[in-house]
Amino acid sequence: MTKVLINEQLVEEKDATIQYNDRGFVFGDGIYEYLRVYNNKIFTAQEHFERLLRSAREIQLDVNHTVDSLTELAKELVAVNKVVNGGIYLQITRGSAPRDHRFPSPDIQPTLMGFTKSYGRPFKEMDQGIYAVTTEDIRWLRCDIKSLNLLGNVLAREYAEKYNASEAIQHRDGIVTEGSASNAYAVKDGVIYTHPTNNYILNGITRQVIKWICKDENIPFKEETFSLEFLKSADEIIISNTSIEVMGVTKLDGEQVGDGQVGPITKQLQTCFNHYIDTKCV
Ligand SMILES: *Cc1c(COP(=O)(O)O)cnc(C)c1O
Repeated sequence: MTKVLINEQLVEEKDATIQYNDRGFVFGDGIYEYLRVYNNKIFTAQEHFERLLRSAREIQLDVNHTVDSLTELAKELVAVNKVVNGGIYLQITRGSAPRDHRFPSPDIQPTLMGFTKSYGRPFKEMDQGIYAVTTEDIRWLRCDIKSLNLLGNVLAREYAEKYNASEAIQHRDGIVTEGSASNAYAVKDGVIYTHPTNNYILNGITRQVIKWICKDENIPFKEETFSLEFLKSADEIIISNTSIEVMGVTKLDGEQVGDGQVGPITKQLQTCFNHYIDTKCV
């Protein structure tokens, strides 16, 4: 039986219950992380948990955890559920308290919840590429926080679903921001362009890995905004996140991207990604 982490305890799934008035449930008042497991080990744990602690600080949530204690909890969860390849979801909310928009009293403990999933790497999609659509970015202006408030992202993803696409690439005032749950890149004349890390996008760890690879491989990586028109004229389009790694978009809004195949820069990033799997797992 798979176990779930509830407030530092590993419990059976059927016993993994949360209070009806938990602020995560009532207000979406919390933050989360999603990490990848490769060969029983956790990928870029340090980067993910540093980001989780940053998200917590940004919403003024005191979590009595460190990168090390969170990594230990995640390791226990992976071990007990015997995850070989898969993912770890971990969220922390501002705890359960009578419904009131104001923060609860400081003695209310945050609620921590974590679970794992087992699945392999998306090799088929990486080879073939995926289909994406574009849509208006209607999210709030603190997209840099990995918060539980995902309604804008959920609506964007469901819009993609309607068109049988795997992802919706969002744009705000004509500027491409990111996917519903991924960062987005346009490749033009051998240069990778992606939105700078500010309040309009989530600073992806996979984006960081791509940046490392670009440095290693001397691929120009420009953190500059670009327009929807620029995206549509790109040689290659890439999306990235912890689950899908580096994924080529071969069709956008029903039109072929470049020659309709996964492009050379995308393939180079995919190949080099393996080096970081080998060196960044704990
Ligand atoms: C988590 C997330 C990403 C990707 O981040 P990774 O750390 O690479 O998984 C991108 N955009 C949004 C909106 C996200 O929630």
